[in-house]
Amino acid sequence: AGAVVIIGAGHAGYQLAASLRQHGFSEQVTLLNDEGHLPYQRPPLSKAYLKGTGGPDSLMFRPEKFYRDQNIDLISDRAVSINRAARRVLLASGTSLDYCHLVLATGARNRLLDIPNANLDSVRYLRTLDESQSLRDYITAGQRVIVIGAGFIGLEFAATARAKGLEVDVVELAPRVMARAVTAEISEYFQSRHAAAGIRIHLGVQVTSIESDGSKVTGVSISDGRHIKADLIVVGVGVLPNVELAADAGLPVASGIIVDEHLLTADSNISAIGDCALFASPRFGGSLRLESVQNATDHARCVAAWLTGDAKPYDGLPWFWSDQGPDKLQIAGLTTGYDRVVVRGDRAQAAFSAFCYRDEQLVGIESVNRAGDHMFGRRLLAAHGSITPEQAANPGFDLKSALT
Ligand code: FAD
Repeated sequence: AGAVVIIGAGHAGYQLAASLRQHGFSEQVTLLNDEGHLPYQRPPLSKAYLKGTGGPDSLMFRPEKFYRDQNIDLISDRAVSINRAARRVLLASGTSLDYCHLVLATGARNRLLDIPNANLDSVRYLRTLDESQSLRDYITAGQRVIVIGAGFIGLEFAATARAKGLEVDVVELAPRVMARAVTAEISEYFQSRHAAAGIRIHLGVQVTSIESDGSKVTGVSISDGRHIKADLIVVGVGVLPNVELAADAGLPVASGIIVDEHLLTADSNISAIGDCALFASPRFGGSLRLESVQNATDHARCVAAWLTGDAKPYDGLPWFWSDQGPDKLQIAGLTTGYDRVVVRGDRAQAAFSAFCYRDEQLVGIESVNRAGDHMFGRRLLAAHGSITPEQAANPGFDLKSALT
């Protein structure tokens, strides 16, 4: 092993640099950071950070001293191309870095709205610290905001904005909220909670035009012919993985940078991890691209182990969380492709879980304010275990008894 260069200092890149040193890796480690902040956590950007008054320091993984002490070269620059034959990365500043092993941890970027007026200053996105900071400074009670997209980030923003006294409308093309990610049971619960908080959710429609007074947003038209007034639009319509560096270097890409079960690209000197990676999953069969902290950090740990002589295929169990208003949603496993859903707990008490089954095998658990069910799911599913749907639905069944 020799010098490792990591492109991107998000959750995956930061964790890889830290884990390499934890594993005793003694060669040079360079972490390329193009954001102008020390590496930081993204989840609070649509939650506590947006709500609160804390400064950017509250988001940092580690202070600057950590990188110095750990001998991690944290460089503020951007990779612009990869010369695979020479094993060299060219940077925007004009300098270059030689590598023995290169790791692409380039993450994803906001999918932009492609309609006229979408470039107005009052049309905002939420991915980076700078975007969250400027939104936080921009929103004030009484403003009317339209959130485009009822995914996790759109709904987290909507709940925070409503709590801050804004008038909030959410416009979503799918027939239910978070439709791509959760069961109908969870969608319905959150729809009614957000509606009870005074958020108006418009399903099965899309924004067809943005009206402005020449400089600011004044409203939108939606596909059912209605018009909604607004001072601000926040767009949460998903992300695009940053695959261009890899593609330009001739590496295979599809809906992510294609890697095998060891997270290696077609070039065995280059790995890809986190949001940008489309990885082969022995656990689930086929390939997956996930957008979560768990995925980014577990990928990083797997590559750190590989680079320090402990080569095991990646087998992380997916898990995720989303805080929306007073409710905490937690997901263990992959709740897609299920054929049966069993509810445990009590929706009316705001504490229940949806156990998802495929062919009688438990594949995932979505929990609302039931941290115990979530932790149970993570342990059971990681060990490829299951309980029957009847056991899941039975409040008298002791989950712990299944964890032997
Ligand atoms: P990123 O964090 O996107 O980091 C990639 C980095 O690479 C970026 O800094 C980027 O600027 C940089 N980069 C890209 N190209 C280059 C280049 N050419 N040269 C140098 N640098 C480059 N996940 C959860 O599990 N739970 C949550 O509650 C949750 N909430 C979220 C809330 C928000 C608002 C957002 C935006 C995301 C949230 N996520 C959540 C998702 C989670 O943050 C991501 O899955 C995670 O950040 C992925 O880490 P990553 O390192 O792969 O990518």
